[in-house]
Amino acid sequence: MSDYPPADDRLKHLLAQEINLSVDTWKLAFWIADGIVKDPAIRAELERIAAAHGKGQPCGDRHCEACFANAHAEAEQPPQASHSKWRVETLDPIANEWAPSSALPSLEAARQRLAQAQQIAPKWRDDKTPVARRIVRETVTYAVEAEG
Ligand SMILES: [Zn+2]
Repeated sequence: MSDYPPADDRLKHLLAQEINLSVDTWKLAFWIADGIVKDPAIRAELERIAAAHGKGQPCGDRHCEACFANAHAEAEQPPQASHSKWRVETLDPIANEWAPSSALPSLEAARQRLAQAQQIAPKWRDDKTPVARRIVRETVTYAVEAEG
């Protein structure tokens, strides 16, 4: 590790470097930085931020990039919650494919439709084999696309 900024005066030197971009002399920048590092309110705020980070909690400071990015990610919601609908499918034994019913709004409605179908037509009329049916859930999810 480099000796500059000095370990026991690093904060003041870092502040002075930043201030030096806006003032005419290093001496003035160093003088302003000295006032900042000694200010009790500023020191208390630095300790509050460090304590929050030490506990793994967000510090709440908008200039803290990591905490701000996390808060922003949590606040970002998809445009719409996912939607599900249910269908009762019937196995077409000739095509060997599942044929869907119309969409039903709930699993309960699908179970009722399945029970009704099994009661009305438990077997195929032509060869009397049992009709295979199943309930499927179809879920539509929404995501925000990145701007192209
Ligand atoms: Zn933070």
